[in-house]
Amino acid sequence: MRRWILIVGLLAALLLVAAQVFPDNRATLAEVPDKVVTLTFDDGPDPRFTPEILRILGDRKVPATFFVIGKNAVANPDLLKQIVDQGHVVANHTYNHPHLEELGKEQVYEELSTVDAALSDLLGPSPRLSSYFRPPRGNLSREILAAVKDMNKELVLWNVCVENRSTTTPEEVRERVMSLVKDQNGGILLAHDGELDRTLTVQSLPLILDDLIREGYRIVPLDEYLEIARSL
Ligand SMILES: [Zn+2]
Repeated sequence: MRRWILIVGLLAALLLVAAQVFPDNRATLAEVPDKVVTLTFDDGPDPRFTPEILRILGDRKVPATFFVIGKNAVANPDLLKQIVDQGHVVANHTYNHPHLEELGKEQVYEELSTVDAALSDLLGPSPRLSSYFRPPRGNLSREILAAVKDMNKELVLWNVCVENRSTTTPEEVRERVMSLVKDQNGGILLAHDGELDRTLTVQSLPLILDDLIREGYRIVPLDEYLEIARSL
């Protein structure tokens, strides 16, 4: 089963509104590749959770993209390097994780560009440093879309979020996530490795990954996922 879903551009829910509010913005639509998943982690790096998540990914040899908060990267440079050294990709999730959609153009640019500068500073030129950007909470505005375009960023949202208030045990998280993944036959998974208490995420992740692997899903890097999705 294939479904047209929004992977880069505007959230599906915003599309109708966006057509009026952002008449010049073209959302990019792509199909979800058959039984392909890509993993993304937002809000780290965080010494409480990122090392354990890296271990879980490393044990299973699966790649991920880390949408880091700039100030957390600056506070945890060794963790940032560890992410890259283990072959994962780093991406921009703003410097302070503000309500970006409420900020004016200059502040939006500042939030994005300070992260780029900090990451380049900490990592040097690295093929693991991507042009992907994810706005906090997935919220968008005209200013955010303009900045993304001007700065040659690639906006990446998600299909399935691991964290949800309705699930409170690792088993419940696994069931909900796997059910959503199966409904869509794959997609971009979003989990969090920082800011709030992510203990439940760390506990659920091995269950979800093992289910995905057992059920024949390919877990690929984000660039490969997007490439496959665009070619469909
Ligand atoms: Zn976030």
